[in-house]
Amino acid sequence: MAIVEEDLERVRSTLALSDVIGEYVALKRVGRSWVGLCPFHAERTGSFHVRDETGRYKCFGCGAGGDVFRFVQDVDNLDFVAAVEKLAAKAGIQLRYTTGGESRERQRRKQLVEVVDKAVDWFHSRLLSSPDAREARDYLRRRGLAGDVARTFKLGWAPDSWDELSRGLGVSSEMLRETGLSFTNRAGRQQDSFRARVMFPIFTETGDAVAFGGRILPGSADPAKYKNSEATSIYAKSKTLYGLNWAKGPVVAANQVIVCEGYTDVIGFHRAGVPRAVATCGTALTEDHVRLMKRFASRVVLAFDADAAGQGAADKFYEWERKYEVEVSVARFPDGQDPGELSVTDPSALAAAVDEALPFLGYRVQRVLGGRAPASPEDRARLADRAMQVVNEHPDANVRGLYAAQVAAHVGIPARDLVEASKKRVRPIIRVTPARRTEPSENAEFVAIALLLQRWDDIAPWLMEELFADETCRRAFLAVADSGGSIEVALEHADPEARELLERAAVADVDADPEVEARSLITAAVRRELSRRTQLTDPDSMRETSDAQRRIKELDQTTATQEAAEALLGWLQRRSEERG
Ligand SMILES: [Zn+2]
Repeated sequence: MAIVEEDLERVRSTLALSDVIGEYVALKRVGRSWVGLCPFHAERTGSFHVRDETGRYKCFGCGAGGDVFRFVQDVDNLDFVAAVEKLAAKAGIQLRYTTGGESRERQRRKQLVEVVDKAVDWFHSRLLSSPDAREARDYLRRRGLAGDVARTFKLGWAPDSWDELSRGLGVSSEMLRETGLSFTNRAGRQQDSFRARVMFPIFTETGDAVAFGGRILPGSADPAKYKNSEATSIYAKSKTLYGLNWAKGPVVAANQVIVCEGYTDVIGFHRAGVPRAVATCGTALTEDHVRLMKRFASRVVLAFDADAAGQGAADKFYEWERKYEVEVSVARFPDGQDPGELSVTDPSALAAAVDEALPFLGYRVQRVLGGRAPASPEDRARLADRAMQVVNEHPDANVRGLYAAQVAAHVGIPARDLVEASKKRVRPIIRVTPARRTEPSENAEFVAIALLLQRWDDIAPWLMEELFADETCRRAFLAVADSGGSIEVALEHADPEARELLERAAVADVDADPEVEARSLITAAVRRELSRRTQLTDPDSMRETSDAQRRIKELDQTTATQEAAEALLGWLQRRSEERG
């Protein structure tokens, strides 16, 4: 099965590449290009270039490149058809398929998402209007989660019943099981997975309903306060962040994402005017989560007690900071309150806590040192020792040195002594190889190819194979020339080296006059040709040579340019044919 070619083109031409990529990457205008931080490798300075004119992007750090479909496939882990479908939906284009429609796997996923979506609506309307949900409504109102909040976040109520959802949803028991909405109990009967719980639907970052978190009401005998959907074929806890579907715009805009522990914390941040919060769904933060967040922002604020996560967590955070070039900091809240509660009692405290978040290590050091200065020399030594243990977890020697100075000031022991004393314990630094950086090559032949891709009509009439001395440029030129200017076709036919060059050229920000560039290429090619002909004796060849030299001079005179260029191109071609 495939999508009708014409529809692909319609999707491609309807959407600006920078609009699509801009949803994932904060792009800045640089010349005629857009530049941002590459979503496919960790970097601090942008080497990710996007050109709307050519519809191509290219990262000069890691080499990732392609068109709008490639981008969405890679960034969202979709196959080609899914990427096209997603973009078509965005562009409001109804796709036509050549045979059979969508793949079975995709159809299945779509069906499952539809079932979960149905359940979202079912639980939601139950909460809003059913008499048995009154207690739940009262509870949510007390916590500031009623009304618009409940509607925005599609909160729901799972009734206190064995199988009301299973019977009421109108979906096969197989689908109910596959989405984790129900299971077959020991008596062999279909039973709802969630019962007497306030329901928080969980969506993927693209807004597909995939799972639920359910919370008991106060006073319930159920020992599990929160319960999450089991993993299914459409839901993986370690790769899902609750709230990202609502938060991603503000997260990108602020280059900051706030990670909470609970659904109500996320909603609390939104209510408090800080709509950048997400939550893990009943798991610790994983590397997959970090990778997912890094697509949207590089500053990560932990809004939970990160220290309580223990020693292993600290190691992981430092490693992720290096590997993904994210900055992890920790927000501190007034004692014993979580963000969900604070959003009701003191919403401004939430924004303040995020603004005043401390770097992860700073937070840990401060936890050890506490508020008061130690009294006895023994106390000071013990405190220094404990603080330095925390400091020494950090992989960067400079960072360790700076924090050692802080500890030193607090306990009154010279920093040098602290560092000396703890040197024995220092662990090896984790090294991350920096991404390879290759700047776009800016030689004249490359520029000409870039112009050819981007402004075909302006330069195509001036160019021919013989103008390209560089072998890769020559092959790239031929691929484009043979394709009649279509980047897609050219890329398909180019060899890997030439393709790589074309990908760079397609996004290069060339601000050059096509005619000037063409003239300088012609001049260079003629000079190369002339230098081959040093030992000429026959009069014809000598005349040719002096003709060519005269024509080169004419190239710079506006009146005769075109004619001179054509003569020289013709001459170059004949020379090349003669050589065979
Ligand atoms: Zn990259």
